[in-house]
Amino acid sequence: MDVLKASCHCGAVRLEIPYKPKSLTSCNCSICRRYQALWGYYSQSEVKVIARPDDLTAYVWGDRQLEFFHCKVCGCCTHYEAVEKGPEARLAVNAQMMDPEDRKDIPVRRFDGAVSWTYLDE
Ligand SMILES: [Zn+2]
Repeated sequence: MDVLKASCHCGAVRLEIPYKPKSLTSCNCSICRRYQALWGYYSQSEVKVIARPDDLTAYVWGDRQLEFFHCKVCGCCTHYEAVEKGPEARLAVNAQMMDPEDRKDIPVRRFDGAVSWTYLDE
């Protein structure tokens, strides 16, 4: 398969993703429920983020572990990264930025990030 692509609505922020994730996570925590994101998990070395620095901004909150990146032009939340950088550190792609055809066969798992911090289908 070719590299998977994702982008914000206006195209200013683009992601190149090496493979489909085994599953996507729909989380009900205070931030994910607002973004309505579907997270696919990778490491920071695996995903290429293509954007002019001026077009990308990050939101950091709470215990300041994660940076939620969004496009300054159209507002879409494209991915998050662990604040602590490294090739193995987490980068999560918001699969809502993919072509729906590309992600339609990836199962979605519901994660209870609000209360129990477990997957609800386990
Ligand atoms: Zn945009």
